[in-house]
Amino acid sequence: MRKAHTIILNNSRLRKVRSNLRLLIAHACWDEMESLRALLDGIAINSIESSLIYSQILDIEEALRKSICMCGTCRDLENDMIYFPSLKEWHCVKCDSKKLIWYPKPKS
Ligand SMILES: [Zn+2]
Repeated sequence: MRKAHTIILNNSRLRKVRSNLRLLIAHACWDEMESLRALLDGIAINSIESSLIYSQILDIEEALRKSICMCGTCRDLENDMIYFPSLKEWHCVKCDSKKLIWYPKPKS
């Protein structure tokens, strides 16, 4: 099993830039998801069009959740992050230190 990869920034200015960029990306995703949800108004719930829109919303949500911008556990946008290759997700150091991250059992 590959080891987790941690990215820690100690410089407060760099942390602020990182937080602002993460927030900017998250807001872009949330805006896009909201625009897609608005398209659902007037579309039949079980239609092919609504399924495609829901699929796009879920894809954006999953991409944001698995990105380094957001902790996969607590959804935090500001902490240092750790990448877990087995999960293919980033989680914050606080969730890792509190042992809140679920690891799948290694295959034997
Ligand atoms: Zn977290």
